[in-house]
Amino acid sequence: MLELLLPERCAVCTRPGLPLCDACRDALVRLREPVCGRCGSPGAWPVKRCAECSGRRLAFASARGAIVYDDRARSFVREWKERGRRKLAQLAAAIVSEVVPRPECHALAYVPGDPERALRRGDVAPRGLSLALGRRWELPTMDLLRRDRSLPRQRGLSLAERRRNVRGTVSPVSESPHVVALVDDVYTSGVTADACAAALRRAGARRVEVVTLARAVR
Ligand SMILES: [Zn+2]
Ligand SMILES: [Zn+2]
Repeated sequence: MLELLLPERCAVCTRPGLPLCDACRDALVRLREPVCGRCGSPGAWPVKRCAECSGRRLAFASARGAIVYDDRARSFVREWKERGRRKLAQLAAAIVSEVVPRPECHALAYVPGDPERALRRGDVAPRGLSLALGRRWELPTMDLLRRDRSLPRQRGLSLAERRRNVRGTVSPVSESPHVVALVDDVYTSGVTADACAAALRRAGARRVEVVTLARAVR
């Protein structure tokens, strides 16, 4: 309803007109190759592991983000998630499919929303992105995961502590296809993607590839 009543404005610069103006769309920094084949971190050369992911146990085989999670990307994601602007899911899918190759998988899954917040906002952003990507890539989106409880506070915790925390909050709801791509809006530490991939593996997935709109870059 709100989307019909309010004049459209750019999610990044707030200029009236398009939901994402051409200038801001172009200014989102694409994460082109070479990136780490495992975690998607950009580097000077194509590598199978990098300083960010080597030595870490990760339940997913690969992760790819389309854009750098900078201030512009943050504004975009905030508008999309907080204000439930669904057109932004379509735009996010367009940007992802422009940068990230279509995964060789049987289906898409998505990072499940926080049960309390999902109720308040209706839809969840990763599911919207997954559905929009699925239309472009001709892949079904399956409801494979559930968030059992809200995430405990993560600030100030080590990566290992966060990993343990998050892994206890996600569980599978049905059997997973053997190869599945997990969709999320942002990849930051990889802890959420790891927890969801671990749950998908418990549900029968042999390989999980992660696809996100944005990725934090150190
Ligand atoms: Zn703009
Ligand atoms: Zn890496």
